[in-house]
Amino acid sequence: MVMPFAFALNAELSDVPSVFEFPVRDDLRGVISYGAPQLDVPVCLNVNENPFPLPDDVVDAVTEAVHLVAKGLNRYPQRDAVELRQELSGYLYRESGVQIPWQQIWAANGSNEVMHQLFLAFGGPGRLAMSFDPTYSMYPEYARDTFTNYISFPRGADFTIDIAAACQQIIENRPTLVLVTSPNNPTGTALGAADLTKLLATARECGAILIVDEAYAEFRRVGTPSALELLSEFTNLIVTRTMSKAFGMAGTRLGYAAAADPAVVATLSVVRLPYHLSSVTQAVAVAALAHSQSLQAQVATIRQERDALQEWLIAQGLNVAVSEANFVLFGTFSNRDRIWQRLLDQGVLIRVTGPAGYLRVSIGTPTENDRFRAALMSALRDEGQS
Ligand SMILES: *Cc1c(COP(=O)(O)O)cnc(C)c1O
Repeated sequence: MVMPFAFALNAELSDVPSVFEFPVRDDLRGVISYGAPQLDVPVCLNVNENPFPLPDDVVDAVTEAVHLVAKGLNRYPQRDAVELRQELSGYLYRESGVQIPWQQIWAANGSNEVMHQLFLAFGGPGRLAMSFDPTYSMYPEYARDTFTNYISFPRGADFTIDIAAACQQIIENRPTLVLVTSPNNPTGTALGAADLTKLLATARECGAILIVDEAYAEFRRVGTPSALELLSEFTNLIVTRTMSKAFGMAGTRLGYAAAADPAVVATLSVVRLPYHLSSVTQAVAVAALAHSQSLQAQVATIRQERDALQEWLIAQGLNVAVSEANFVLFGTFSNRDRIWQRLLDQGVLIRVTGPAGYLRVSIGTPTENDRFRAALMSALRDEGQS
């Protein structure tokens, strides 16, 4: 019998049985927690962070903001995070040219929490969430936690979604939530506006919400629109974003959603925990948003580095997904775990993820990317694959 949480009590202390079996939910028994290894290595290219430290002007602004709120930490935070949501609205306008009233923006501790809240509000027992694999591995976990059924359909060989088939799947399966990640993790591929429009229209007809997870939106290519542009047309659209990736603030834990209808925000405030966003988080995020320009320069560098790395990988004769994000999925290897280990042995940590035979590397600083290239060359030589 599997008893993940069991320990021996001191038998002398009482007559109760010496082993306590925790009443873990049946569906959680033996399940291990999600997460990429956090290893202390020189070159960390495994969780798609922005590799650059915060610029000095942002550090100064953040420090001052924390100093200002510190005295008031005896009080609970502002529950509705109004100033933060106004700043997020301003940022989205600067980034995507789309004006979204702050009342239609929701913020929480990372877009993971936002998504979890969306499942709490719009999923639940007897309901279905639908997605397209390979994609972000957390979606089935939100579904499990909220007792939502989950179904995933495979993408094509080039990792695109067959839109006609997807619409048919929505019609047949009647999900309440459809999740599309664009640019997608772990493939980096993005969805065009025409395809997104078709999905949204079908979802709306079927009473489904379409969530577009735009965690990597800032890295998209020129000409790839943000789903934010479709908010005014489709009331069933919710776009989620994060400050963890392009914004370079993964440590802050701030994610947000823009919804076509303020009713979404009202519903999310029903399921959120009291005072879910700390005063410190709110102050740090507001300060950083006011300095978003100094972060944009980093994004430009990362995009150039991505394009260069992608071309280099192709030149090595590898299969490479066309990435609009800050990572590249490449392969295929008969033993990807061994390649991963050979890179790690050289101080370069990447990620084993995606379809069989593939590996994913996050874009680092130019120096880190050089180290990755050198390490991969050596690994391929050792494996006799180049
Ligand atoms: C990294 C990532 C997120 C962001 O998570 P946070 O909780 O905001 O740090 C969301 N969706 C996808 C697909 C991601 O890869």
